[in-house]
Amino acid sequence: MLLTDILLLDYKRCQRRAFLNVYGDSLEKDAERDFVLKLRQENQLHIASTLKKFYPHHQKPQYNLKNWKDRAKDTEVLMKQGVSCIYNGTLFESNEFREQCAPRITPTLFSEHNEFDCLGKPTLLVKQAGKSKFGDWFYTPVSINLGRRPKPEYKIVATFYAYLLGNLQEITPPTPTLILRQHNHYEVDLSQWLSKFQITATDCLEMLTQSQEPEVFISRQRCNLCHWYNHCYTIAQSQQHLSLVPGVTPSRYQSLLEVGVGTVKSLANICPVNMREVMDAELANQLQQQAQAIVDNRAIRKSQFQEDIHRLIPTRKFELYFDIEAEPERNLDYLLGVLLVERSTKTEIFYPLLAESPEDEQQIWQEFLYLANQYQDAPIFHFSGYEVETMKRLAKLYKTPQQQLERLLSRFVDIHYHVITSVILPVENYSLKSLANWIGFNWRDPGISGDQCVCWYDQWLKTEDHSLLSSILRYNEDDCRATLYLKNWLLEFLG
Ligand code: SF4
Repeated sequence: MLLTDILLLDYKRCQRRAFLNVYGDSLEKDAERDFVLKLRQENQLHIASTLKKFYPHHQKPQYNLKNWKDRAKDTEVLMKQGVSCIYNGTLFESNEFREQCAPRITPTLFSEHNEFDCLGKPTLLVKQAGKSKFGDWFYTPVSINLGRRPKPEYKIVATFYAYLLGNLQEITPPTPTLILRQHNHYEVDLSQWLSKFQITATDCLEMLTQSQEPEVFISRQRCNLCHWYNHCYTIAQSQQHLSLVPGVTPSRYQSLLEVGVGTVKSLANICPVNMREVMDAELANQLQQQAQAIVDNRAIRKSQFQEDIHRLIPTRKFELYFDIEAEPERNLDYLLGVLLVERSTKTEIFYPLLAESPEDEQQIWQEFLYLANQYQDAPIFHFSGYEVETMKRLAKLYKTPQQQLERLLSRFVDIHYHVITSVILPVENYSLKSLANWIGFNWRDPGISGDQCVCWYDQWLKTEDHSLLSSILRYNEDDCRATLYLKNWLLEFLG
């Protein structure tokens, strides 16, 4: 068995993913998505810019085509030489080495699980003053990560490197370091994380040696970019797994199991009173009704929703439906898509206010303000909070008067908010795509997501291929039309 940094990272994010990466059938993996490739490229650029800024004089082991055991030997040669900073080094610890030498250094770790080798590839090994088996210096691992926060999985992996170095150089580096997206440095507190690392690594090894396949649990945020998604999703669907019910989190799932609820059907059939020992009445009702909607494949009006929907969602002669495409890496909102609807004449005109280059963002913001001002009585319908947050960001950045911003925002109507507060739909999540699909709206290019548009825009900036922009505009226009479709459906359903 080989315990690697990547395995630990995956295990910390999803135990099942770590399991499938070792035992899964690679033919069942999804093809690599463009967005994942883009993230990988961004990670490489981030590493390159960090090296340039903080470690311009790093050295790289001469790997050629050697295997990782030889690479580890090459890395150790550089450490013995006392090179100030080693980029892309390899740390390898064999089972035999740990049995013979390591117990006197880290005697309590892995007492029960000795049958494995370890492999880690820290981004950097940075020389520090202090005693080690090499001389008056030792090495500290520095991980360069693209995340904005020092996530637990980053800390576990950094601790793993510290552990490997501890055995190799006979002194554990006290402060393994993370360098995050904004080049901010974070030191991992080993007094806290060594024991957490030990538990994680031991559990991971136990799962793998005993070949215990963790249960599927679909979580939109976690599974979204995973290459096992379709494999897991198919299983979850065949099992009617409760993770497909919106609102069922891993901890709520455990609570439901405690009261004998293991499938969507059983959740739909249980009396919410019987769930009160594990969750409050409101949540029990909500989950039960959600499952009921799924089993019956019908929309349900929420019993606590007593408002007049026409007061909350106005109908006007002119209405605007608004959706934004953004490029998070550049902190750029490059497409402000507006569908103008004139109810009396049934006219619909789509205005794609597009920044063909990032410098045009201010111009499209001014165009948007002008268009919104042309139809001052028109409500501006959008889906979720992103559009409002973006208005605030752009107004601040381009110095739009506060009063003008407030007048503009007073016209915004969030259709997502009104859906989730008034109805329960038989969907797996309350995204625009799921909701609109269920009520019968179809995107012209099925299977495309906002992530894909991010990649297309990035490619457009490199290639100037206009077909990429056309695809983005079609997607954005369909998002605006889906918002219109959903709004009409909601008014009819509740009206
Ligand atoms: S799809 Fe989700 S549950 Fe399946 S391995 Fe990936 S992250 Fe884990």
